[in-house]
Amino acid sequence: MGLQRWAFWRQRPRLIAYVLLCELAAITSIVLAAFTAAMPVQDDWFRFLTLAACATVHLQLSSRQEERRRSRKPTVQIDLVGIWSFAGVVVLPIHLALLGIVFSRTQRWFVARRPLYRFIFSTSSVLLAAVATHEMVTAFGVRAWSRTTVLDSFTEFGILLLGGFVYFSAQAVIIGIGAILLSTSRPTIRTVLGTKDDNELEALTIALGTVAAILLVNMPAALAIIVVVSIIGNRIAEVRQLQVDVRTDPKTGLLNMRGWREGAERALARVERANSSAAVLMVDLDHFKSINDTWGHPAGDDMLEYVAHALRGATRPSDILGRFGGEEFVVLLPDADADEAKLAGERIRRMISELHVPTTDKRGGPVAITNRTTSIGVAIYPDHAKGLGELLQHADAAVYEAKENGRDQVRVSS
Ligand code: GH3
Ligand code: MG
Ligand code: MG
Repeated sequence: MGLQRWAFWRQRPRLIAYVLLCELAAITSIVLAAFTAAMPVQDDWFRFLTLAACATVHLQLSSRQEERRRSRKPTVQIDLVGIWSFAGVVVLPIHLALLGIVFSRTQRWFVARRPLYRFIFSTSSVLLAAVATHEMVTAFGVRAWSRTTVLDSFTEFGILLLGGFVYFSAQAVIIGIGAILLSTSRPTIRTVLGTKDDNELEALTIALGTVAAILLVNMPAALAIIVVVSIIGNRIAEVRQLQVDVRTDPKTGLLNMRGWREGAERALARVERANSSAAVLMVDLDHFKSINDTWGHPAGDDMLEYVAHALRGATRPSDILGRFGGEEFVVLLPDADADEAKLAGERIRRMISELHVPTTDKRGGPVAITNRTTSIGVAIYPDHAKGLGELLQHADAAVYEAKENGRDQVRVSS
């Protein structure tokens, strides 16, 4: 715990300031909301306890999965437990709604065990979104959904949709700004907005939360259906996560060879249809073994992570990056010719040589890895070969030529 607190104070000052600001805003709006909210009546307490019970069953029955899914990324919260939070936000007085959110998130924290400051930050973002959504929904008057006319039901549904939109976008904005402040290089759309899967899950959460709210008011017993659906939803979310995992190299976050081949085959097919060209780069770090030998394998692993980062920085989002294995990486550049590929290779070589990698030596003391060189082999579609396997062979042969020629260079297959 002490360590995790330190992890927070070691972040960049602007991120620390932003996180503290969000927490302050959350506390302020909670206090304001609590003072202006009406006293809960008996119905409110009943609904509060119902939602708390549903959330607890959901959390308990999906806790093992959540343990496996534990993610260290500070992206959008992808947690179907938000169903119960959202229902509370539109139905309960604000203080009870916020209490419910804190209740379920605290339970979740014991399972997810994310760093405390991240947990508090993401909780703040949920609480702020909750207050904004509640204020928006109640601005239209008290919500009551029993015996609404057909026409009323359209208005009420519109208000709920608007509430869902506020809840979704408030969190996306708060966490997106955090991601921008956190990222060390130019942030991509994905780091700011989260992946498509994250956002779909968030939309599903709000959709089910809306249904849960309507049931809570009109037929609370039927919430059992939502509990079952939410648990199945968590399972589906886990399968989707696994689908991503099979294509990802866990150490670097780049594609593994399975994922790279899939992406590269698809890109090559597109290049072929367009009668264009493409380049395959094989990137091999020079004397990598000496990093392991000198400072230990954890230092080598840190270097690999930084190289992956440099590769992302040196390429375009449409380029396909993978870890071939060990300290070798592969890059497919669609629509590149030999000159462009050589330039890209030089850019990669330079960015890796400029890396400053803070890490530890074998005793755990601080050291920095700098001035590393790289040998890169280039093969061009369709000049050298048409199939991906052959292109890889040509690129690999070019790497060996580069090595024999003194390393630290980009070599186009001959
Ligand atoms: P060269 O300039 O000829 O490429 O020399 P090299 O040392 O880079 O190449 P070599 O193939 O002799 O050694 C590769 C080393 O990479 C050996 C292996 O221990 C290390 N390695 C492979 N995968 C990992 C990994 O995931 N983490 C760490 N730390 N080291 C790895
Ligand atoms: Mg090698
Ligand atoms: Mg090597």
